[in-house]
Amino acid sequence: MTSMRIGIDLGGTKIETIVLAPDGSERFRRRIDSPRGSYERTIAAIVEQVTAAEAAIGERATVGIGMPGITSPATGLVKNANSTWQIGHPLQDDLNRSLGRDVRLANDANCFALSEATDGAGAGARVVFGVILGTGVGGGVVVDRRALVGPNAIAGEWGHNSLPWPEGEEYPGPPCYCGRRGCNELFLSGAGLVRAYGGSWSAQDIAAAAARGEPRAVAAMDLYTSRLAKALAGVINMLDPDVIVLGGGLSNVDALYARVPRQWGSWIFSDRVDTRLARAKHGDASGVRGAAWLWPGA
Ligand SMILES: [Zn+2]
Repeated sequence: MTSMRIGIDLGGTKIETIVLAPDGSERFRRRIDSPRGSYERTIAAIVEQVTAAEAAIGERATVGIGMPGITSPATGLVKNANSTWQIGHPLQDDLNRSLGRDVRLANDANCFALSEATDGAGAGARVVFGVILGTGVGGGVVVDRRALVGPNAIAGEWGHNSLPWPEGEEYPGPPCYCGRRGCNELFLSGAGLVRAYGGSWSAQDIAAAAARGEPRAVAAMDLYTSRLAKALAGVINMLDPDVIVLGGGLSNVDALYARVPRQWGSWIFSDRVDTRLARAKHGDASGVRGAAWLWPGA
């Protein structure tokens, strides 16, 4: 029985590999470019990373992999991946065979939530909703340190729900690439903040200007804050998580952690709200750490 865990973050541009010891300390880390466009070379690269990691630690380890898409429970084939060369391939079977063991695969938002629930900002909580607010908006649900995976493998995919309790131009909202309009992602991604500001600044510049009190940036940030409060109120009414952990670029906006919980009560069906809103502890490393924790151990 091995106690070391290999985690791999299989991104469209980079493949990152770590080894975690049982106490969560890191024993190995490596980053390589993804072999873009080739499924076969992706498999070969993963095998190479696992071989290198095990050579470095001198023992066999469990392997967990996080990826932008998922393996369809119905067909065993990759779906919803933005690394389109993986779509339609039996990644799970091919990796099990190539590595001679059972490999666990999960969506990267689930890995983020799992990392934070295991030894991050949601450590010790029973139910954790992890949210990524970045280029895209996604989420993952972890219960008792296990990522929740339903029959469609989309639990927590709240970025493409429509923004609840819309006001003014929020309804019907802008068109989304998913084919619908007014999705949470359109308002809560970096591009969503830029759209609220109505200028050519980056989301980071707008957040910084709002912190300095620049009126238009403050107005955009106010709008963003109330939209995040509404969208999370919908999650709390449905799931009632102990902790909501924010990751992605917009999770660095300090003001959100005080202001969103001050507002979300307006839409939550409860006389009081004890849900915590917390910033990710492991930041960008949560994807690869969560992949390693797909094998939770005893
Ligand atoms: Zn959408």
